[in-house]
This record gives sequence, C-alpha cells and structure tokens, in this order.
Amino acid sequence: MSEAGDMGLVVVGAAGRMGQTLIRAIHTMPGARVAAAIERPDSAHLGKDAGELAGIGIIKVPIVDDPLPAFAKADGVLDFTAPAASVEFAGYAAQARIVHVIGTTGCSAEDNAKIAAAARHATIVKSGNMSLGVNLLAVLVEQAAKALDADDFDIEILEMHHRHKVDAPSGTALLLGEAAAKGRGIDLADNSVRVRDGHTGVRKTGSIGFATLRGGSVVGDHSVILAGTGERITLSHHAEDRAIFARGAVKAALWARGKKPGLYSMRDVLGLS
Ligand code: NAP
Repeated sequence: MSEAGDMGLVVVGAAGRMGQTLIRAIHTMPGARVAAAIERPDSAHLGKDAGELAGIGIIKVPIVDDPLPAFAKADGVLDFTAPAASVEFAGYAAQARIVHVIGTTGCSAEDNAKIAAAARHATIVKSGNMSLGVNLLAVLVEQAAKALDADDFDIEILEMHHRHKVDAPSGTALLLGEAAAKGRGIDLADNSVRVRDGHTGVRKTGSIGFATLRGGSVVGDHSVILAGTGERITLSHHAEDRAIFARGAVKAALWARGKKPGLYSMRDVLGLS
C-alpha cells in the first residue's frame, strides 16, 4: 500500500457497464490511478487491457481474476458488481485494511450486516447513488417529508432504469424512501409499499409507495411525488450519463483515504449529513 502519491484503486467488475465507466473516470481525475482490474474467473474478458476495453487505449492494466494480491498492493477498491461479490470484497478490503467504495445495489439486510462487520477494519463508503444531484435531492426530500404532514400528503416514489437492471426498486429509490421516512420520523421497512397488484384496498395513511419502470437505455430517472388534496409536489432527478456515479465513487475513495475504519455514506463525503 502506497503512503503518498496517487491513490491506487482496484476496479472490481471492470468489464461491466459501471466498471468501464470507472476506469474512464479514474483516468481523467487527478489524485487516482488504476492499480488493478478484476473480473470473475470464468470471464471472457480476462487478459484484456482494462483501458482498451473501456475505450481509452492501453493503460497496461490487464483484467485478472485474483482479488487478494491486487487488494494487498492497493489503497482502495471501487465496487459496482453484485451483492454476494461486494460482501466477499468487503472481507478482503478489511483484511487489507483499505478503502472500499460500494455502489452495488440490491443488498439484503444480511449482506448489509456483513458489510457493516467488515467496516470494523475497512473504511467503507456505501451508497445506492454516488451522484451529487441525488444526494442533494435526498436532503430536499427529507425536508419536504418533514414539512408536509402525513395526513395531508402521500409520498410515492417512481423510478425508471434500462432493461438490463436486475434489482427493484432501485437503490436510489430506496435511498430516497429512507430520506422521506427519516423526515417523517418513521421506519421505511415497516411503512413501505413496494408493489401493488389486484384489489389492494385504499392507500394506508403515512405509507411510502414505490413504482418501478424498466426499459431501453435509461441511466436512471427518479421522482418523489408528494400528493395532497388539490396539489402535488414532484422532486425529480434524471441521470443522463453513468460518469456522474463513477466520478462520485472516485471522489468518495479520495475522501476516505486516511479516514478511520467505519461505514460512511455519500452524504458524509459530500458534507450533506
Ligand atoms: P453490470 O454491467 O452487470 O456489471 C457488473 C460487473 O461485475 C460485471 O462485469 C460482472 O461480471 C461483475 N461481477 C459480478 N460478480 C463478480 C465477482 N464475484 N467478481 C468479479 N466481477 C464480478 O452492471 P452495472 O450496470 O455496471 O451495475 C453494477 C451494480 O452497480 C448494480 O448493482 C447497479 O445497480 C449498481 N449501480 C449503482 C450506482 C450508484 O451510484 N450507487 C450507479 C449505477 C449502478 P459478470 O457479467 O460475469 O456477472
């Protein structure tokens, strides 16, 4: 692990949509460099140059399948993969006592507990959305939910993503739901309605509803609707480019360098907590 100079970052899932975007982001941001690129042992991309695959030309970092030696030599890990993989990588980051930025969504409560345990030794930043815009939106949603009484305003969260997304509601929709629940002083898990189908009965006062759309190439659209009698407020964010998440992840890693182990959020990184 290097003590000074550019922060050496391992990109896991380097051949994925976000993995390639991360390689491009690190390349353009001062203070960081790609230390290694990891994919699964059975990946068709092993041996390819990570920069060439990401469209920025050869960077002399081949995609390999063994995370341990890579983590041992790095300062941090950028991880937008899958829940089981992120849990495993958090364990390795704890062993290496390095920074682990987790953007992976769809983690279960059990996965999150394992990641929290790893954060006793690793400095982990985890967020369902790494963009400045969405984290600011979460602050606004919390304020709006606090200001508008549950008896008068119903909160619904609508999201749309590309056809390849595998989890629902999105990590961002859940992040916004958590912000709304915090504003209302309630627990999201006990008050959310994540799907509706058939004869549902009338809406329960104070619940927070979710609706999911999937299709095409949409990077990520989110709207939080506060619906009252005779008026409606809509707070929205539209992600046009995955680069906003990748730049946020690199920023998180640079922020976390040298911080003591623990589990941090993007709101901590952006000073919005
Ligand atoms: P993707 O294109 O499927 O990329 C995921 C990559 O991780 C794939 O190349 C996959 O390989 C690889 N991977 C999975 N398990 C692995 C393992 N054990 N070891 C090494 N590599 C592994 O998906 P994506 O669109 O980039 O999204 C990835 C995750 O990031 C999703 O959970 C998504 O919701 C989340 N995301 C978060 C944010 C945010 O701001 N927090 C923004 C965008 C996306 P295989 O194809 O072989 O499985």
